[in-house]
Amino acid sequence: MKIVFVTDLHGEIWKYDRLLKAARNFGADTVINGGDMLPKTGNLFDQDKFITGYLEKHFKKAAELGISYLCYLGNDDLRIFDDFFERTCEKYRGVIDLGQRKYDIGKYEFIGMNWVVDYPFRLKDRCRMDTKDYAFQMQFGTGLLSTPDGFEELPDWFTTARTLPTIEDELNRLPKPTTMSRSIYVIHMPPYRLGLDRCGNGSEVGSKAIYNFLERNQPLLSLHGHIHESPETSGRWHANLGNTLCIQPGQLTPFTYVTIDLQAMEFDRHIEYF
Ligand SMILES: [Zn+2]
Repeated sequence: MKIVFVTDLHGEIWKYDRLLKAARNFGADTVINGGDMLPKTGNLFDQDKFITGYLEKHFKKAAELGISYLCYLGNDDLRIFDDFFERTCEKYRGVIDLGQRKYDIGKYEFIGMNWVVDYPFRLKDRCRMDTKDYAFQMQFGTGLLSTPDGFEELPDWFTTARTLPTIEDELNRLPKPTTMSRSIYVIHMPPYRLGLDRCGNGSEVGSKAIYNFLERNQPLLSLHGHIHESPETSGRWHANLGNTLCIQPGQLTPFTYVTIDLQAMEFDRHIEYF
């Protein structure tokens, strides 16, 4: 089985176009798109226009190529569009919204999660405390949640967040694989301690709960994104956590993706310029 894994495309059409070319050239049967799929510039409430105006064609083409396409929205993609996104995926054969779901291809089991650990940014649609004892970062302003009528302001986000399940809780709620050693977790948020979570300013913001979950359960692979600059900042795009290989391709100006050959257990990171 051959996979192309990409993440954090944020609506960049030329990268989406290259993605299907890369999948074809590699002979991939599966594409994994690890979240933050929609444009984050301009009015976020227009993100559905990217789904209708571009993603539909992209999904159709993947389906025509016979490529399975596992994906989900990310923390910069408004939650009010989740249902619309899911219904769009369902229209195309092999296109799967993997958020908080399990999907099997052959003997491999894919499980997705797109909740993220809270950050200083205002949009809180997919934010959670990492664990019950999580210490919040300084905030850039009051929290915001998307609603069909615009943003709802959260005057006391910390109090709201304490009422929500933590990342640790969300991981425990995920569907369980039959065979952990053949499962691949697609988790937008990276784990801590492995150099996959390093921001441009040097701070490491990864999830302790995700690290502990992977260390305890030992899936075959875990695929992450979210901190676009981390591979360039830390010099690492993969790390071992026991028998689990954790991959975080990053995504800066060039188109960046990872090819995975599961039979050969070969992994390569590719960087292509416009
Ligand atoms: Zn992103």
